[in-house]
Amino acid sequence: MKKITILGSTGSIGINTISIIKKHPDLFKIVALVANKNFSTMLEQCVFFSPDWVAMKNEKSANILRTKLKEKKIKTQVLSGTKEICALASLKENDYVVSAIVGMAGLLPTLSAICAGKTILLANKESLIACGCVFMKALSYNRARIIPIDSEHNAIFQVLPRFLQKNLGKVSLKENGVKSIILTGSGGPLYHLKKEDLPFVTPKQTCTHPNWSMGKKISVDSATMINKGLEYIEARWLFNASDNEIDILIHPQSIIHSMVEYVDGSVLAQLSVPDMKVAISYAMAFPKRIVSGSNFLNFKKLKCLNFFEPNFAQFPCLKLAIDAFASGQSAMTVLNAANEVSVSAFLNSKIRFDKISEINSDMLISSDFLEPTSIEEILEIDKKTRIKTKKKISSLIY
Ligand code: NDP
Repeated sequence: MKKITILGSTGSIGINTISIIKKHPDLFKIVALVANKNFSTMLEQCVFFSPDWVAMKNEKSANILRTKLKEKKIKTQVLSGTKEICALASLKENDYVVSAIVGMAGLLPTLSAICAGKTILLANKESLIACGCVFMKALSYNRARIIPIDSEHNAIFQVLPRFLQKNLGKVSLKENGVKSIILTGSGGPLYHLKKEDLPFVTPKQTCTHPNWSMGKKISVDSATMINKGLEYIEARWLFNASDNEIDILIHPQSIIHSMVEYVDGSVLAQLSVPDMKVAISYAMAFPKRIVSGSNFLNFKKLKCLNFFEPNFAQFPCLKLAIDAFASGQSAMTVLNAANEVSVSAFLNSKIRFDKISEINSDMLISSDFLEPTSIEEILEIDKKTRIKTKKKISSLIY
């Protein structure tokens, strides 16, 4: 039985993970659950699983949860705050830690799990974007292991040779027969809009993805297509891919979740209906396969699979992310921080949709940080960029 802690258990990835665990009580046991404010979903999860530990980042939510658990005579211990969340991520009882907190808030708990040598089922791509250089070294130093949950990276992982799966990020793709990685993406909910219509898009429109149901931040990231750019960075780190070993392709149907092209001309792809349970269950059960609860593909009903070049002019955030990787870690840390702040401002109707890419670009152009070599330096860049981005936003006339 694998013992699991879920960071971000009340979110979209967390809830999908919980549904898989409910299907397989003989395979998985929940040790601890972590969220921010959503005490009502957390309460339901505690009632069902009675985990030993829970942590809510928000103190007030932790207090409410404590009271409600007491009323129901459930003995789960409730903690609160980042330090406690990090402690739960590294509990000795954990075998697996699902990293599914959204944004930079996931970084320290994920690093804590890495430093404790756990197997990390990684959804929180932002921690790898903001901190890739330290993250990958810590992984290797602590002999921790990553199995990607992000559907594209999970698809690539599924079709890589076993040696590459076991040595993720450490060995050469080329020396192991891989010519290139083909990262596919639907193009997001706004791909077919005209450029002149993009400024007037509402938060609701961006959160209505045609193929996937996800949290708000990643939904906006899909709409600006920075999500594909962040995934490009994630793939470069995770698979140790050079710039000519990775390509991005728009595939609107989201049936192929990514592909690996081998030196002999073969291309291996992973296909399924767009349902995160497929990727999550694969990561959880690896190297076995288990029933995920997803529907099955019906090839007789599939009319066609299309592929296009990405439109970089219409979605400038995609190029910003690709260029940030080439510039170095400080640019990636800046981009991640600026993007989190600008996406949040857009979701709160403080800025227009097109301002997200403008602000992200401004923050990159005006940043002059030295390359960070430690987590402290990364946190400092992140903090300064957030302050600067907020200032920029408040100076804008909507
Ligand atoms: P959601 O917004 O649905 O959920 C976020 C989760 O993180 C919630 O449990 C939330 O708690 C928790 N959380 C937020 N802030 C904190 C904090 N400071 N401390 C502790 N917990 C916190 O996001 P998603 O599930 O959509 O995405 C999670 C991650 O997975 C993101 O990094 C995303 O990019 C990645 N991902 C998601 C995919 C998807 O299909 N959703 C696909 C691929 C990757 P609360 O509910 O209390 O606010």
